[in-house]
Order: sequence, then structure tokens, then C-alpha cells
Amino acid sequence: MTSKINFFIPRGLTLWFNTFYLIFMYYIYENWVADKKAKIHKATCAYCNNGNGRHEEIHGDKNGRWHGPFSSYNKAKKAALELEDRKISNCGHCVPCA
Ligand SMILES: [Zn+2]
Repeated sequence: MTSKINFFIPRGLTLWFNTFYLIFMYYIYENWVADKKAKIHKATCAYCNNGNGRHEEIHGDKNGRWHGPFSSYNKAKKAALELEDRKISNCGHCVPCA
């Protein structure tokens, strides 16, 4: 009689749900160093990696900061517009506006 509930949840459903959730999420990367930019990414983008960035950007907030997740491109863009003095662009890799 242990873990009766687990018996009814198929293995992999959690993973499936996480994946399903991620493909509809968007993030903004605010760059502090190179220039005053805010770039919008899909959560699944290799450069975004669900708001974790690329491996070399994981440590510290020296280069910039991730905002999100946002549940739609328009919500991400609206939030990006509220950032002070940032030029907003879309990631050329994942093309979030498509
Ligand atoms: Zn991207």
C-alpha cells in the first residue's frame, strides 16, 4: 500500500509536462556589459537554456541578467520595454517573434 498515487502517474509525465511548459515560455536577457541591449529568447533556445544561459554565463551576474519566464512573446516584449534604456532585439537563433 505504499505510494499508491505514484502507481497512477505514468513515468515520464512530469518530464513531458516540463517540456510542454517550456516550449511556451520566453525570457529576456539584459546585457550590462557589451551594450545596452535586451534580447528576447524562447526558453528552449540553446543560448537561453531556460533562463540559465550558456555554460560560461552561469557564474555570477557580471555580464547580464535573465528576466522571466514569460508566458508569451508579447508579455516578454512588454517587460523588455519597461527596462530602462535598453535596445530590444529578438534572438536570431530561436526567433521568438516567429
Ligand atoms: Zn535565443
